[in-house]
Amino acid sequence: MAAGKPGPDAAVDQNYDIAVIGGGINGAGIARDAALRGLRVILLEKNDFGGGTTSYSSRLIHGGLRYLEYGELPLVFESLHERRRLRHVAPHLVKRLQLIIPVFSDSRRGKFIIRLGMIAYDILSIGKKIPRHRMLSKDEISKEAPGLRQDGLKGGAAYFDAQITFAERLVLENIIAANEAGAEVRNYSPVIGINVAEGKVRGLQFVDVASGRETEIRARVIINASGPWVDRVLATVNREMPTFMGGTKGSHIIVGEFPGAPAAAFYVEAHKDGRPFFIIPWNGQYLIGTTDIRCEGDPGDVVASPDEIEYLLSETNRVFPSAKLSSTDIHYAYAGVRPLPKREKGPESAITRKHIILKHRKLARGLISIIGGKLTTYRNLAEQAVNKAARQIDSESGPCRTRKEPLPGSIELEEATESLKTNSELSSQCVERLLSIYGSRSAGIANMAKLGEPGGFVDEAETALAAEVIHAIRCEFAKTLIDIIHRRMMVGLLPDQGRVMAKEISRIAAGELDWDKVETKQQFARLEEYNARLRPVIDNQT
Ligand SMILES: Cc1cc2nc3c(=O)[nH]c(=O)nc-3n(C[C@H](O)[C@H](O)[C@H](O)COP(=O)(O)OP(=O)(O)OC[C@H]3O[C@@H](n4cnc5c(N)ncnc54)[C@H](O)[C@@H]3O)c2cc1C
Repeated sequence: MAAGKPGPDAAVDQNYDIAVIGGGINGAGIARDAALRGLRVILLEKNDFGGGTTSYSSRLIHGGLRYLEYGELPLVFESLHERRRLRHVAPHLVKRLQLIIPVFSDSRRGKFIIRLGMIAYDILSIGKKIPRHRMLSKDEISKEAPGLRQDGLKGGAAYFDAQITFAERLVLENIIAANEAGAEVRNYSPVIGINVAEGKVRGLQFVDVASGRETEIRARVIINASGPWVDRVLATVNREMPTFMGGTKGSHIIVGEFPGAPAAAFYVEAHKDGRPFFIIPWNGQYLIGTTDIRCEGDPGDVVASPDEIEYLLSETNRVFPSAKLSSTDIHYAYAGVRPLPKREKGPESAITRKHIILKHRKLARGLISIIGGKLTTYRNLAEQAVNKAARQIDSESGPCRTRKEPLPGSIELEEATESLKTNSELSSQCVERLLSIYGSRSAGIANMAKLGEPGGFVDEAETALAAEVIHAIRCEFAKTLIDIIHRRMMVGLLPDQGRVMAKEISRIAAGELDWDKVETKQQFARLEEYNARLRPVIDNQT
């Protein structure tokens, strides 16, 4: 990565109350919560914010109906509660989603079991604004989804949950809010050592990738929120630490509209192993997943395997027979590692999805590791983690403010929406796109475009503004072409992975970040490599 212009993260202090390791959803949420309480916070992320597991989820903000089978009622209750809060603090990102569960004569879970689950889900959702479930007859479900397999179809159930199209943006909004509240946030800053002396945590070392410079800081509490990398980060402590993680890999495929595709999301049981998986309308495409396979090795290296892809394709074709999907229909596929606690025995799906906030009291007082944690429950996890950290610091910190305080993109959202729709010369398609990514912050970007800083679009359809590139770099900590395309403007999640716009985006970024020809070429090559990793198998067969 080339050295960029100094951004908002340029200065490093030496003393912090809390150092957070990892800029995924949990680290970002923790940094925001702690900074809003008035604590001195630094967050260090080895790559880009939101580039880990958080980018590779099913993108649901949900109670987790499946967890009822394992008796995880408190987790479902907590998740449903948090779903309501997230719809309130980030309404531009978190939207209501209808899901349908079909029941066939050969389903392992019959209509009675599904109904029981639905009733329990409704009871645990009590007080929430989302409508209750409906049981569906064969005719009713066929009307909802005419492409559904008719052979053995007995009916089903419809219920509501929520979806976050761009989980990456939820991370970023937390990062921006943390920074606005005084936290120092640094991407491309891997932590390479944690110092413990006399059983107490003292500080850490990290590297600034752009300059290669190593920096040492002191921190009273260190929160290891590195997701599936938790054990790897613990291995950098200057004393031996136990291991905790037992991640499982989950893959998704992304395809376009297919013959018989449903308008609602479907939650269906795989014939092969009885595991439920999702077929979800998402970002103008369909997101299909996931798998659940124990995995070892660097979580950053996982890709969707040929077997997983074949499993997801054939199970989808089974439920929607006219789909006839094959690997050539796949736009891209992604895989991530769930940061779960180590459980060597039993099925992967039975491993708890509850989070554990682990204080390393005996070996390294002041060090806290986060094991597990869903996207849905990140806010609550952050609140609990900062409560623990604040007690450790024994300082006068304020109360948690994240329960009601809106994230940056939802502040004055209605006014910004109204103003963009009535006052700007942008097409309604462009306005919708901007709002779904930046929320009320779109108004500032549209203004930059209006002032010509820079003006114009990066696509022929005139939906993506050139000003977004500058905004990503100046206001959202983007440092590479991949950051801008995949985690700021979100065009990397389009069917062509943003290829058509990449050239123009890189031209604007090069001007802003002083990339010369060689650097621009390297940025492009890395983007191509990144995109190719998301098309394993697929490109080999076409
Ligand atoms: C297939 C799949 C589907 C899922 N679906 C859902 C869903 O629909 N809904 C839901 O609620 N949850 C879902 N989850 C769970 C959820 O996505 C994760 O639990 C959550 O994103 C974990 O976030 P995190 O911040 O803990 O980890 P991550 O997002 O992985 O963040 C950890 C960060 O730490 C950084 N890091 C690592 N080492 C270092 C270091 N040395 N120095 C600095 N930084 C470091 C990494 O680069 C990474 O960015 C799913 C998970 C998977 C895998």
